Amino acid sequence: MHTKTIAQLTKGLRAGDYSSVELTQSYLERIQQHKSLNSFISVTGEQAIATAKQADALLAKGNAPLLAGIPIAHKDIFCTRGVKTSCGSKMLDNFIAPYNATVVEKLNAAGTVTLGKLNMDEFAMGSSNETSFYGSVQNPWATNTVPGGSSGGSAAAVAARLIPGATGTDTGGSIRQPAALCGITGLKPTYGRVSRYGMIAYASSLDQGGPMTQTAEDAALMLQTMAGFDPKDSTSVECEVPDYSAELNNSLAGLKIGLPKEFFDDALNSEMAATIETAINAYIKMGAEIIEVSMPNLKLAIPAYYVIAPAECSANLSRMDGVRFGHRCTNPADLNDLYIRSRGEGFGTEVKRRILVGTYALSEGYYDAYYIKAQKIRRLISDDFNTALKQVDVIMGPVSPTSAFGLGEKTSDPIEMYLADIYTIAINLAGLPAMSIPAGFIDKKPVGLQIIGNYFAEAKLLNVAHQYQQVTDWHQQTPNGFE
Ligand code: GLN
Repeated sequence: MHTKTIAQLTKGLRAGDYSSVELTQSYLERIQQHKSLNSFISVTGEQAIATAKQADALLAKGNAPLLAGIPIAHKDIFCTRGVKTSCGSKMLDNFIAPYNATVVEKLNAAGTVTLGKLNMDEFAMGSSNETSFYGSVQNPWATNTVPGGSSGGSAAAVAARLIPGATGTDTGGSIRQPAALCGITGLKPTYGRVSRYGMIAYASSLDQGGPMTQTAEDAALMLQTMAGFDPKDSTSVECEVPDYSAELNNSLAGLKIGLPKEFFDDALNSEMAATIETAINAYIKMGAEIIEVSMPNLKLAIPAYYVIAPAECSANLSRMDGVRFGHRCTNPADLNDLYIRSRGEGFGTEVKRRILVGTYALSEGYYDAYYIKAQKIRRLISDDFNTALKQVDVIMGPVSPTSAFGLGEKTSDPIEMYLADIYTIAINLAGLPAMSIPAGFIDKKPVGLQIIGNYFAEAKLLNVAHQYQQVTDWHQQTPNGFE
């Protein structure tokens, strides 16, 4: 059962091939069996079985919602009522969320069965899952390598077939890069498409939740439920949610694919370039046309992001003060001591680094020089994409400069780690939707192809991804030992 996609499982459940309880039990066993991957922070087995029973009852009546009985798990950044929501941090190790994130609420209403909460970089800051208070996650394709981050637990668990689908969040690449490194499909929707309510904020103007699945067809099913206007999120966009599965089978004849020359310069290693070229050739065979585009400001994306994201995180994380939330030091001498020690003990090194950088960038005298400048660059980057997307339907390129790197390989050099997101960060700055789909292997480790679309063009992205998955089988391959 565990190799099946969500689309297949919805049919199997309705045909009575298995019940949701059986499905849930079988995935829970796999999670137990592959505990060493460390992809889960919490497993909510009892609750899952109870939900699965309810789903089975609805399925028996014949009026069950679309995803009834489908086991999934949430990145531990989404608040789940009554269940620990740690955000990968010691700071929230004792935080039991009193309410559900909108995304969780919607997936619950669609009948999904939550098996637990997935490991992640602390407060979603990282590209390797190594900043997690709960330890690093192993990439099932090579257990001495990272799964990517920050949604590393989500990607590893889907790749190892411990769950058929998971939620993730993407502020600078955190859905796409781990999806690429683990050989699964990940979709970062347009900013404002999926509610951020109850999704613990890292950099609010960039954060966006999305699905992580085996296939584009499954991503369409999950996004269908996750997307939509939410009055509880002030940046949620009030526009209609289309039927994401309706266009999957559209022909790609005449599709205009833009290749930014800045993505394919000398900095891209030759094996990665060759893998991406092979994928592009498959699209040419399907009738697509290739157009070179230029985005001169792309090289400024990482420096601009590492001013804007820390600035926003320094404000967002100020609420973690040991009073209202989270970790509190023992025997504080006074209020100041309480703040200083609680935050000092609760946050890890990378989070502290970003709070310091962000506070500095926002301080009087530096605000104009750093923060305002970065915002201006952000606009230039958006303009680059808007110009390119007037000429083409989608833009393609790599997701990550390399396949999965070794555990510990980049932890001593933060800049080196930041560069892992060189191809993904600009998309968040522009607020565009983008996907990563499995497109081959380098040294037996998965590689992703990135597909970037226009605002709210998720259905187009899913169509473009799905068609590729009809002519390739990269997305069906499972890592050794997890078949
Ligand atoms: N790796 C990037 C960072 O560390 C992006 C993380 C994310 O998308 N949440 O900020």
